[in-house]
Amino acid sequence: MKKFLKILVVTLIALILVILVGLHIAYHSFSPDDKGLQVNESNLAYFQESYEECRKAFLEQARAATEMYDLSKMFSIKVPSKVDTALYIDILYLPPKHDSSRLLVLSSGIHGVEAFMGSAFQQFFLEVLLTEEVLADMGVLMIHGINPYGFKYLRRLTENNVDLNRGSETDPALFNIKNEGYGMVNEFLNPKGKVSKNSVRNQFFHWASIMNIMKYSKGVLQQAIGQGQYDYPEGIMFGGNDFEPQIDSLRIRLPVFLSPYETILAIDLHTGHGERGGLYPLSNPLDNPQNLQKTESVFKDHHIVWGDTDETYTTTGGFSDPFLQKLCPSATYLHLTVEWGTSDVHKIIGSMHLLQNHVMENQGYNHGYKNSKQEERIKQGYKEFFYPSSDSWRSGAIESGREMFSTVLENYSVI
Ligand SMILES: [Zn+2]
Repeated sequence: MKKFLKILVVTLIALILVILVGLHIAYHSFSPDDKGLQVNESNLAYFQESYEECRKAFLEQARAATEMYDLSKMFSIKVPSKVDTALYIDILYLPPKHDSSRLLVLSSGIHGVEAFMGSAFQQFFLEVLLTEEVLADMGVLMIHGINPYGFKYLRRLTENNVDLNRGSETDPALFNIKNEGYGMVNEFLNPKGKVSKNSVRNQFFHWASIMNIMKYSKGVLQQAIGQGQYDYPEGIMFGGNDFEPQIDSLRIRLPVFLSPYETILAIDLHTGHGERGGLYPLSNPLDNPQNLQKTESVFKDHHIVWGDTDETYTTTGGFSDPFLQKLCPSATYLHLTVEWGTSDVHKIIGSMHLLQNHVMENQGYNHGYKNSKQEERIKQGYKEFFYPSSDSWRSGAIESGREMFSTVLENYSVI
């Protein structure tokens, strides 16, 4: 009997060790692929590797559009910085050819490091999707690179550590919102000291994540982390204590373009959510039944991910909701975030990698990197997470965007 118990205990320990080692290997070898997707070479022309190159390519396309269509406008807003004198948001406005009450707003780069894809799609939109027929039914307003500092220096956040998609509002009461759940995990999310990917903490980040999931549940954690917070200025998802300068500028400059329209569809371009290769329309839940019905009919060919479901979370201080909405109070205002999936974050391992990338990048920015090699490794890993270098992924992202926006433009023109 004693011998049997001994064998049982040893077998159990061995089994647990195998599971632990297996999970450890699975976490560190996690690498979503593109499943042999065909590359359409012409799609790759819209992708560049730096803020300057993306901006130049967008401005060339925008200039060509202003030469083609009457009464168009193009201008840049300089974003002040302590370290860089060449950071701009670029804006292109194309009015409809005939009287139309509809406007489409297409914005990129509120999360700086996600702007590469947003910029690529805006360039593609201008060259391929924008036609006389489209402009017969609607005006188009393009906003390129809302967070140029993050775009250039590979951050999701701004130079002041603000997540602009949590810090956009017209009412400063935003900054009084308390995210009670965030405090529970603040120390886990925002470690101090110089960061290294080789540290014990980072080698076993997934175990700390699993412990937190077991303690608080995945849904509670997801909401607490993703919602936005206004109490920890060096923390991830910090929405600020005041408005960032570009939000002040856009609040003044945009209403003149929005106010002539009765119906506005605002689509903010992002990367990161969901399965690699997927394209997802996301939104906070809508209270207004008429707007809900119109939004669903514009995106009727696609599954909309609502923020109050298991798949994602609700946010405060978003750019398209509530900020842009408040700039056009009398319009029927429809809005969605569109996300290209890059890293399989719908899987638990992918979501832990997403969080670890945010934590390491933010720790490096606020507390420094162990050495220059670590800085390069963490920053490039962060860029790759939100802007895959794979030609298959990039080509597929243009194709999925082409397919989604072709139907969205058609559906929007008839609502
Ligand atoms: Zn984003």
